[in-house]
Amino acid sequence: MSTPSLEIHLASRPTGRPTPDNFAFVEVDLPDPAPGQILVRNLVMSVDPYMRGRMRDVKSYIPPFQIGQPLEGGAIGEIVESTVDTLAPGDVVLHGLGWREYAVLDASAATKVDPELAPLGAYLGALGMPGLTAYAGLIEVAQFRAGDTVFVSSAAGAVGSMVGQIAKLRGAKRVIGSAGSAEKVRFLLDELGLDAAFNYHDGPVAELLAAAAPDGIDVYFDNVGSDHLEAAIGSLTVHGRIAVCGMISLYNATEPPAAPGNLAQLVSKRLTMRGMLVRDHVHLKGDFVREVGGWLREGKLRYRETVFEGLRKAPEAFLAMLAGKNIGKMLVKLADYKG
Ligand code: NDP
Repeated sequence: MSTPSLEIHLASRPTGRPTPDNFAFVEVDLPDPAPGQILVRNLVMSVDPYMRGRMRDVKSYIPPFQIGQPLEGGAIGEIVESTVDTLAPGDVVLHGLGWREYAVLDASAATKVDPELAPLGAYLGALGMPGLTAYAGLIEVAQFRAGDTVFVSSAAGAVGSMVGQIAKLRGAKRVIGSAGSAEKVRFLLDELGLDAAFNYHDGPVAELLAAAAPDGIDVYFDNVGSDHLEAAIGSLTVHGRIAVCGMISLYNATEPPAAPGNLAQLVSKRLTMRGMLVRDHVHLKGDFVREVGGWLREGKLRYRETVFEGLRKAPEAFLAMLAGKNIGKMLVKLADYKG
């Protein structure tokens, strides 16, 4: 018996900022799961900046989305049918086939999660890929040490909001965050407890950062690139470190960027600037879940979600995330979890 499902496909490749026309809603009939497979009803899915990169037809660390094919991404779903002993109907799993109501996938590509331990969305945010990115990027890539002054961009987002708090909890001297609105700056100061924060629309980033970090910074966690990266290089102390996590300011760009113009300071200041992919740091997952899960349980670390309701809102959620309309992790809720 097949299962009718709504999917979102890539209709066309965007030039510059994506638009709703780049997405198509397609009704399909899914086959029954073959031996070794499961049928999952998705409950919540993630929209992430890296998905913009997968809309380009270029060779990268992850294959591009194909026109006429469903988009993919992190999702949490409930198993409806299972052909394996290790997973049963009713189990809740994390997997990579979001952007659709139902998915048929190999059981080996799904990881069971415990809905009692944390709200489902947390497995796509604070306790999921963005949280691990923050943890690994700060500790392993930037070699963060207690006493460091840390600057993080896109600080009110899924990764950035974790970076700022982990740095504080691990003994940073001062943590500075940048974000794109006054509301986000208030969130950083009042809810996350950062030492300083600024709205990068309020003036040149270099000036705003210099005012927020008069003694300079030791670590820059880059989510944005361009003028933020240039400002950070200018503010870094000798032997400063940069974790290059993302450069979202360039994802919709049609022309190469002008800044940073001060990369030569990498030499004079003997800076370390190191790119990262979270997939290289999965060995930290146990430490991450123990340490960050503990802080969440104790109420020492907070996370926010911005949630759109219904699969049909997924493209809108993705576009809104690229436009900065999210505080914390941007998610799309597809269905209620009844437990
Ligand atoms: P966020 O939750 O931070 O959402 C994206 C945010 O980017 C928006 O809310 C917006 O906030 C900001 N933004 C958009 N355009 C610009 C711009 N031109 N200049 C400055 N800020 C902008 O997303 P994530 O936390 O999921 O991802 C953050 C970064 O981490 C991205 O660069 C992403 O690619 C990267 N990443 C990298 C991974 C890796 O393995 N290397 C893994 C996961 C994420 P605002 O209102 O502040 O502008």
